Amino acid sequence: MDCIFCKIASGEIPSKKVYEDDRVCAFCDLDPQAPVHVLIIPKKHISSIMELDEENADVVSHVFLVAKRLAGELGLEKGFRIVSNCGEDGGQSVLHLHFHLLGGRSMKWPPG
Ligand code: AMP
Repeated sequence: MDCIFCKIASGEIPSKKVYEDDRVCAFCDLDPQAPVHVLIIPKKHISSIMELDEENADVVSHVFLVAKRLAGELGLEKGFRIVSNCGEDGGQSVLHLHFHLLGGRSMKWPPG
């Protein structure tokens, strides 16, 4: 499958990985929107939230536990934001489920 995040997960495309286990990996975003901007992805290809079901959704709770761990390791004690853009109106540009972990600055709301 021609998916850039599958290739990052497999190591075929280089990335700055900050975490990896058998189910997920996390790496620095190429175009950071905050001092800390990490993408956490399931290794198994899931296109977006819209492709989640009872069979594959467990990985999402694991992603959040990894996010919590990374927030501690990356100095985000003051807080952080997790975003998963979904579909065209959601601004999703890479069609492999991913969660942006953003921190290191004060976040605005609404995000626009
Ligand atoms: P989204 O727009 O929510 O689909 O987010 C996709 C994110 O992937 C963007 O923030 C991009 O900067 C990031 N991105 C795209 N290609 C790479 C790459 N090769 N390594 C790291 N981040 C990437």
